[in-house]
Amino acid sequence: MISLLKCMDCGREYPINAVLYTCKTCGGLLDVQHDLDALRATVLRELFDRRLGVPDAPHSSGVWRYKELIAPGLADAQIVTRSEGNTNLYPAPALAAWAGVRALYLKHEGENPTGSFKDRGMTSGVTQARALGMSRVACASTGNTSASMAAYAAYAGMEGIVFFQDRQIALGKLSQAIAYGATCVQISADFDRNMALVREIADALGIYVLNSVNPFRLEGQKSIIFETIQQLRWRVPDWVVCPGGNLGNSSAFGKALHELHQLGLIDRLPRLAIIQAEGANPLYRAYQSGFARYEAVHAETIATAIKIGNPVNYPKAVRALRWTEGVVAQVSDQAIMDAKALIDRQGIGCEPASACSLAGTRALVEAGVIGPQETVVGILTGHVLKDPDATIGYHRDALAGIQAAYPNRLYQAEPSAAAITAILQGAG
Ligand SMILES: *Cc1c(COP(=O)(O)O)cnc(C)c1O
Ligand SMILES: [Zn+2]
Repeated sequence: MISLLKCMDCGREYPINAVLYTCKTCGGLLDVQHDLDALRATVLRELFDRRLGVPDAPHSSGVWRYKELIAPGLADAQIVTRSEGNTNLYPAPALAAWAGVRALYLKHEGENPTGSFKDRGMTSGVTQARALGMSRVACASTGNTSASMAAYAAYAGMEGIVFFQDRQIALGKLSQAIAYGATCVQISADFDRNMALVREIADALGIYVLNSVNPFRLEGQKSIIFETIQQLRWRVPDWVVCPGGNLGNSSAFGKALHELHQLGLIDRLPRLAIIQAEGANPLYRAYQSGFARYEAVHAETIATAIKIGNPVNYPKAVRALRWTEGVVAQVSDQAIMDAKALIDRQGIGCEPASACSLAGTRALVEAGVIGPQETVVGILTGHVLKDPDATIGYHRDALAGIQAAYPNRLYQAEPSAAAITAILQGAG
């Protein structure tokens, strides 16, 4: 057996095809563990470089290009892929100057098939569901997980079941889940409660859970790091900065970097910076105590994708921070929305949570943690179209508690050339 499931707390091992999300002995989170020693001889930079630009699945996918590091034992025929990944890494010199660093690259995960990085974890999660013979998959979601799962389930001919909160769901995400044909259930509870309900019901009904507690999701999400470093010609940046909600992505980043290092594909690790919204900051609070204390919080933030008070992957995120000498910062909704406006204004665009990467970079430069000569990769996790209400509300300066620093005013004009000319001369 080349891969297995292993409890990160007690070390108990399970076969790779066990339908299990946490350890039966101690309740700890499970890792998909690959036999890195067996892979070392064949998994080389050249292997992945040779696959760049190939036309056919699975290696055309920015996830399955790295198949040996994601599901080495899996038959290619099982793979459910939409050639996800292959997202742009944009140099952003104007934003680098604003944040106060020498170089800033933005990895735009909003360019995935359903508009968020979740597609990278969903291709691996739904593939595992197919390998296990599952016909129904479910998740609780703040939005993007459900959009992605609904699409991949439909594409694979499975039923997708989504547990939504009944309030504050970004419109783009809800409309996607409905459009892709998932069974959508709105529940009057927050994400954390819905998460618990999914786990309870799924076990009883034989439904496969595709929240990021599912370790196969994280395997696919590792490819954000693989692809970024390959795009940098295998040069390692000083920092990788990303938003933290349920902490699946940051956990996956830590595992990806650890594995690349173990395999000798990189010779040093970048430092990981996880950015939380002030109103949804359980990891930040724990970080302040050196991880001595952890407490769930009641989450409130305009960045709905990270509005999570009790992140399921907390222990894995702490491990990722230890592996990478990482840091945690928090930013206000004001800072998130202003940073989003700047990213949008570059023509790149992102949803609110994604802007934590830029707002957090600037905050960490101001705090003297990130140095001005350092190179930063910021992860943009979701597409600008996901949350139109937040964008329009910002530019109308109509968001409660936020004063738009970079609004783009929408002009109203009489239908006359003179009126329009007056506006354009004034605006020019
Ligand atoms: C899911 C999501 C996040 C949070 O990622 P976690 O893995 O839950 O920490 C951030 N931004 C966007 C756009 C997301 O969809
Ligand atoms: Zn255990």
